[in-house]
Amino acid sequence: MENPLVAAGALVTVAGLSLLVAGPLGLVFVGVLFLVAGVVGAKEGDGGTVGSGGDAAKTNCPHCGARNDADADACHHCEEGL
Ligand SMILES: [Zn+2]
Repeated sequence: MENPLVAAGALVTVAGLSLLVAGPLGLVFVGVLFLVAGVVGAKEGDGGTVGSGGDAAKTNCPHCGARNDADADACHHCEEGL
């Protein structure tokens, strides 16, 4: 869906603007935002079901496949260890 060239252009444009407006720290902040967005997008891509966008840290139970918080010790569905 997303053209890599468009994504790269957007990244460089936003990075440049951030550098102008907020300095190096702004650039770091935008970089972190893109990293988080990329990680969330990758998870949603191979997870099958797309979440509502707010579940940045989820993991699939290896036993039953239920979605659980990434920091949970046991599956909320089958109670197997994660
Ligand atoms: Zn489970």
